[in-house]
Amino acid sequence: MNYKEIFIKAYKYMDVDLIDGDCGKLCGYHCCRSIHENGKVLGIYFLPFEYENMQKGKGLIDESHLEIHTKIAYNLPVGIKKLYYGYCKDNKNCIRDIRPIQCRTFPFVPHMEEGKLSLVIEKHQEHNCPLINKREEWNPDFEKSILAGWNELIKIDKVKILIEFESKERIKTNNILYVYRGGLDNET
Ligand code: SF4
Ligand code: SF4
Repeated sequence: MNYKEIFIKAYKYMDVDLIDGDCGKLCGYHCCRSIHENGKVLGIYFLPFEYENMQKGKGLIDESHLEIHTKIAYNLPVGIKKLYYGYCKDNKNCIRDIRPIQCRTFPFVPHMEEGKLSLVIEKHQEHNCPLINKREEWNPDFEKSILAGWNELIKIDKVKILIEFESKERIKTNNILYVYRGGLDNET
């Protein structure tokens, strides 16, 4: 399987903005901040194979502080031994063309139930996005394009395993605020 090809396609689909213009100006680039309210330093998780195929050597991430989160210390699903976790070199000057999937998909996350893929917004987020309650301002193509990107990415087994694992946790903790299924039956 050519992971790079899949990621290139997904990055293209997901090259959309939630609203017209730079939404970061509304919130002071809240989801790019590097320090959480609780003082914790925040980084970005990469999907399985994403760092190696799309980010390594590109200059977005501070490679001297790249972390590898393994099963020993982190709660990872069976089948996933490690995930890369990195910190942006300069989160005020994003190299937008290569921003990772985690940044493209926010505030949505992929969700799978009974083999069906959807996008959800979680009730409890690491970054509270001020646009969540301003649905009338969303770009109507955003959800469609992000879902198309995830439809590519689930061709990678390990990505699918991760989504299914996180979806089960989300259901268990009742952590779903909004669901987009790609049609007209979306719900809050
Ligand atoms: S928190 Fe929301 S409004 Fe702010 S930069 Fe992120 S997606 Fe845009
Ligand atoms: S990659 Fe860009 S959009 Fe993502 S957190 Fe870093 S600066 Fe922000």
